Amino acid sequence: MHIFRTIDDIKNYSRTTKQESKSIGLVPTMGALHHGHMRLMTEAIKTCDVTVASIFVNPLQFAPSEDFNIYPRQEAQDINLLTDCGVDAVFIPNPETFYSPNFTTYVEVNSLSKNLCGKLRPTHFRGVATVILKLLHIVMPDTLFLGQKDTQQARIITQMLADLSMDTGLCMLPIVRETDGLAASSRNAMLSPVERTEACRLFHALNHASEAIRQGETQATTLQMMIASDLKKSAMIYVDYIAIVDYETLQPIETVGDNTLIAVAAFVGKTRLIDNTLLSFQENRKI
Ligand code: AMP
Repeated sequence: MHIFRTIDDIKNYSRTTKQESKSIGLVPTMGALHHGHMRLMTEAIKTCDVTVASIFVNPLQFAPSEDFNIYPRQEAQDINLLTDCGVDAVFIPNPETFYSPNFTTYVEVNSLSKNLCGKLRPTHFRGVATVILKLLHIVMPDTLFLGQKDTQQARIITQMLADLSMDTGLCMLPIVRETDGLAASSRNAMLSPVERTEACRLFHALNHASEAIRQGETQATTLQMMIASDLKKSAMIYVDYIAIVDYETLQPIETVGDNTLIAVAAFVGKTRLIDNTLLSFQENRKI
C-alpha cells in the first residue's frame, strides 16, 4: 500500500491513476479504524479500480471546547488494517501543511447544517464540508464512500455535490454495529467499561421506536417521548437531541413515513455518541 503524506504526492498518484483510465474510490476517515470504516473500504475495493483512504483528524470540524486533543489516534495499527484489507493508497496529511497558515476559504451548506448536530456544534459541518471538498479536489475520486452512521454529514455532502455541480458519486453504506447493537465508533474507545455497557441503550431506544412503528405508531412526538424515556433510565446518559425529521430536508415532521430519519445524539459520560435509523433505508444507497 502506498502511504502519501503530502498533497503533491497523492495528487501525482491520482493523476497517474486517472491517466490509466482507472476509477478511484475515496474513503475519508479520522482514523482509529474499526469495522464500520472497513465496511466502506471493502465496498470501495469491490466497486472501484483503486481505493484511496484518508486519515486526518480534521481540526476545522472541532470547536475549541471539543475532544480534538483526546480523539483516538493509532496510525500504525490503521496502516496495518488498510494494508491487510487491500486498500491501494492512504493519504495521511500533516495538519500544519494541509491547511496553510493563511487558510480562509470555507464551504457552508446552509440550512442542512443548522439543526440536529449543527445546533450544539454550529461550525462542525462547515469544517466537514470544507475538508471533504478539499479532499475531492486532491484525490479526484469517481466515488466517495460515506457511512449512514453520520447521516446528516452524508446528506450535507450530497447537497454540496449537487449544488457545486460535481461529478463525484456518493455511496452511503449502512451502520455497522457491535454485537450488542452499539454503532461502531472510534469514540467508543473513550468509554469506561460501565459507560460502554450503558451506551448500547441508544441502539435499544431506536429499536424500540422502530418496533413501535412496525406496530402502527406514526406520531413523532410519541416516538420521541418513548426514546427519551428509554434513555432517561440511565443516569450516565445526557441527551443532546432526539430528532424525527425528513431525510431530504432534515426538518422535523409530525408523522413518520418513507424517508424518515430518527436520529439521537447523547453524551455517555463525557463522550458524545450519535446513532440513527433511516426508515426504508436500502443497502448500498447510491445517491
Ligand atoms: P470518521 O472516522 O468517524 O470520520 O468516519 C469516517 C467514515 O466512516 C464516515 O463516513 C462515517 O460515517 C463512517 N463510519 C463511521 N462509523 C461507522 C459505522 N459504525 N458504520 C458505518 N460507517 C461508519
